[in-house]
Amino acid sequence: MFSPPLHRQRHQFVIDFVKRNKPKKVVDLGCSECSLLKKLKFHREVELLAGVDINGTKVRKKMHGLAPISTDYLQPSYDQLRIELYQGSVTQRDARLRGFDLVTSIELIEHLTLADVESFSEVVFGYMAPVAAIVSTPNSDFNPLLPGLAGFRHSDHKFEWTREEFRTWALKVCLEFGYEVEFTGVGQAPSGQQERVGFCTQIGVFRQLGGRDGCNMLLGDNAEDVFTYTLLYSINYPSLRDNNTLRRVLVCEVLYWAEKLKSGWMEEKTGKRNGTYTLCQTAGGGEGCLSERCMEMEENQTACGAEMRSLVEQCGKSVSEDQEEKDEEVFWPNFQRQENSCTLRRCVSVPLDVLWSCCPKVSALSGSLSNLRHLLMDDPEVKLSQDGAAVLINYQEQELEEEDYNDLEDSGFAEAIQHSFTAEQEEDWEANV
Ligand code: SAM
Repeated sequence: MFSPPLHRQRHQFVIDFVKRNKPKKVVDLGCSECSLLKKLKFHREVELLAGVDINGTKVRKKMHGLAPISTDYLQPSYDQLRIELYQGSVTQRDARLRGFDLVTSIELIEHLTLADVESFSEVVFGYMAPVAAIVSTPNSDFNPLLPGLAGFRHSDHKFEWTREEFRTWALKVCLEFGYEVEFTGVGQAPSGQQERVGFCTQIGVFRQLGGRDGCNMLLGDNAEDVFTYTLLYSINYPSLRDNNTLRRVLVCEVLYWAEKLKSGWMEEKTGKRNGTYTLCQTAGGGEGCLSERCMEMEENQTACGAEMRSLVEQCGKSVSEDQEEKDEEVFWPNFQRQENSCTLRRCVSVPLDVLWSCCPKVSALSGSLSNLRHLLMDDPEVKLSQDGAAVLINYQEQELEEEDYNDLEDSGFAEAIQHSFTAEQEEDWEANV
């Protein structure tokens, strides 16, 4: 009957609201199998996403679909997201759900007794006191248009309100707790009947009078802290605002680029050239020279050769092929020896300022050269030169085995994809139709 299906239209209504209003803290009451939460987690503005349902089994069934996937770890953004799922009843208070920007209650209240709706109103609007709330419920004025429907739309519904009944409840809530409400809905009636029957799902959009500073926000200090809900699941998404995540991503980037620079240089070193193999064409190689080289690299997109010439120019020396043959260790002035237990290891030294200037992601992540040095200094995966001005990369070429790539494959990814495609639940009559 409805295209897109009604449950999707309800969720889309919430998503559109989130896009327009950009709430940071959102809680979905009666979240069931978390299908709305899964859609909301992609909205960058949301920093805390919570879900509550009285039925813990339903929540547990799909909650792992909310976990970060491989790319969230491999390419974290600066956005922050924490997800918390609780088992608990909306008729009871829990201090962890106070002060949210948005509370959603989609097709929940009709599953409560009328006495529990009273408690719900007090808990949600009086205690949790969100800046905004979206409450949806079936509109019984529409029911005569639903084919094959006798009685309520779902066997667990305790009531189904007409538009007038919904309006009466909503206006009472507004008066009591300091909100204003706008009535709307999803699921259009056939043409000519909209006025008479309204939307299939009726929706009230509540906004706190005075916003965050409204009269209900006497929250916090003198309110007792009650914790009646059971935390079922919580996860922090990796974010570059977290120093450990930032360092991990930066180190990967630095090691990748340092290896790439080294490979480029080795290719040049082993390449056949006529006459003297000149590592440095330009004497000096100050900052100007370096940035010129970086520009060259950007234009040509031939990273290795240009990058290594940059490196070598920095050294300000030139060496001939003959010299290389006699003593491999002098072929590059920055070439260093490093004692490692009883073995003598040879390393290629890649200056940090070259990495910083030539690798856009390294500079974006670190912000400044001194930050870069600071972030790499204590990392066990990175070997810095004694003066801390260069990264030391083992001279031996290491092939990245296929298994290494395979290790990156994460079964969680496949699982998450699978989760995102599972059918969303519908009300009885919707499924039957
Ligand atoms: N909101 C979901 C959505 O949009 O997909 C569907 C909601 S489902 C029709 C109603 C949910 O409310 C069920 O998962 C049920 O367990 C939950 N529920 C019923 N009574 C509740 C209560 N007192 N507190 C919290 N959740 C409750």
